[in-house]
Amino acid sequence: MSIVIVGAGLAGGTAATELREQGYDGPVVLLGAEHHPPYERPPLSKGYLLGNDPLEDAFVHPREWYAEHDVDLRTGVEATSLDIDAHVVTTTAGDVTYERLLLATGAEPRRLTAVEDAGVPVAYLRTIEDSDRLKAAFGEGRRIAVVGAGWIGLEVAAAAREAGSDVTVFETADLPLLRVLGPTVAEVFADLHREHGVDLRLGASVTPDDLRDADLVVAGIGVAPRLDLARSGGLAVDDGVLVDAGLHTSHAERGTRVPSVLAVGDIASHAHPVLGRRIRVEHWDTAINQAKTAAHNLAGGDEAYDAMPYFFTDQYDLGMEYVGHGRAEDEVVVHGDLAGKTFRAFWIREGRVVAAMHANDWDATDDLRAAVASGDLPTLG
Ligand code: FAD
Ligand code: NAP
Repeated sequence: MSIVIVGAGLAGGTAATELREQGYDGPVVLLGAEHHPPYERPPLSKGYLLGNDPLEDAFVHPREWYAEHDVDLRTGVEATSLDIDAHVVTTTAGDVTYERLLLATGAEPRRLTAVEDAGVPVAYLRTIEDSDRLKAAFGEGRRIAVVGAGWIGLEVAAAAREAGSDVTVFETADLPLLRVLGPTVAEVFADLHREHGVDLRLGASVTPDDLRDADLVVAGIGVAPRLDLARSGGLAVDDGVLVDAGLHTSHAERGTRVPSVLAVGDIASHAHPVLGRRIRVEHWDTAINQAKTAAHNLAGGDEAYDAMPYFFTDQYDLGMEYVGHGRAEDEVVVHGDLAGKTFRAFWIREGRVVAAMHANDWDATDDLRAAVASGDLPTLG
């Protein structure tokens, strides 16, 4: 049975790895539009951008691993359309047939078109090349303007400050990360960046004139999942490729499950069996663990993916981990020292813990997972 994976990112690379680790020995083709073998993106806004970690550490495997494990990695090849009845993927380098297909096409940055149209060049951060461009622009006294105080915006701001740049961050919401963390914890990130000398401009739309004096403008205003390939095959999509608990796609018009095509990672709008609703998660852990479940199911298994979302960030001297699926409007209970940035926070909805995070409390992870799994708020102390 031939398995084709489209998208040689973290999810695609992990799925190929897992197929081999689970003992699947049939043909595996891994198609990637980028010229690199699969790599992890978190270092691009942290250790690699800061100049602390070598690029090699970001790769899922060295390039030779793929040939050594009989994975047919084709980089610089883009899949352009899909025929799910004929089981054919058309690519820029010819057609590829499959018996089972995994879509892992990821996401791409939303563009700041109004600013670009006004003649102000804007940089984005998704690839190794993007990270190299930012790193080259940072330095003592360089003026860096960041649009968007989400994950990219804040991590880029931290890296730019650590390189000695003057940094201004523009965010339309009243606090950074407000929609993810809610006001109590979002305020911690506002304080953190102000304490490190970032000029944080919140609650206002940025104009091209705000940005003209910058040496570099970086936008981190969210991403859009790459859905064109799935659409071309007639698969059901909304803000992502619709997949069932076991990560299988379905046909948009026929309304039937498509058991031969699965989707994972940033593109997957997943019917989460524990949460009882669809979620699309744009994080590292989901890309890895959905890919593992998908590999099992591609090779003939029938597992549901039921892990809770998990993510982390590192900014200056603050490291955090978050598990669950909270909302900004949930009640938040904090254990620890919010002002000192060492604490655990719990998001509560209808009396149950739905998400939990820690800041700089690295023994907390198992307790946070247990709280989210049980729904019970731990007792303090
Ligand atoms: P992607 O990583 O986007 O990979 C998809 C790949 O598919 C790309 O290489 C693309 O070129 C290729 N592709 C797309 N379409 C086609 C096609 N038609 N044909 C062939 N190839 C195609 N998450 C965290 O949890 N913690 C972090 O600290 C963190 N840091 C991040 C830092 C940065 C700078 C970025 C950009 C993201 C970060 N993330 C982080 C998010 C995380 O990296 C993503 O959730 C993850 O990369 C998603 O993996 P993916 O394989 O689904 O998609
Ligand atoms: P993001 O986390 O969705 O944040 C985008 C931010 O930009 C939001 O705060 C958003 O505010 C704001 N925004 C949107 N339009 C704006 C505008 N026109 N002007 C000013 N602000 C605007 O997306 P991202 O930071 O670009 O990150 C891209 C992807 O990489 C995401 O998938 C993210 O999860 C991932 N990533 C994750 C990590 C991590 O987990 N540590 C690190 C880096 C990247 P509203 O919410 O109010 O719209």
